[in-house]
Amino acid sequence: MSIWVEFRCENRCNPSSGTNKRERDRCDSHDNNGPQGLVDESRDGMLAGIRALEVEARDDGWSRTKYGWICGYCASQPMVMAELEAERQQALAAAS
Ligand SMILES: [Zn+2]
Repeated sequence: MSIWVEFRCENRCNPSSGTNKRERDRCDSHDNNGPQGLVDESRDGMLAGIRALEVEARDDGWSRTKYGWICGYCASQPMVMAELEAERQQALAAAS
């Protein structure tokens, strides 16, 4: 048996993700276009599968940030880090 794993861009809900723009001019996750695939359900299989998807992500221009993985489109947007930090601050405030 296998488990479906898909990377979703952490910036996908922020304005800089280009929600209303056309494909290729917006976040990969708006088009379900992130690294994805079936991985073996065993613990070792999942870890190996996720590592392979991380390699694919980097090859496709994704970046790992302290907020999580972001797609190449979002990584090129000037406001992305400010928006991700604001989102994190809101989550921290809501949790306290
Ligand atoms: Zn994105």
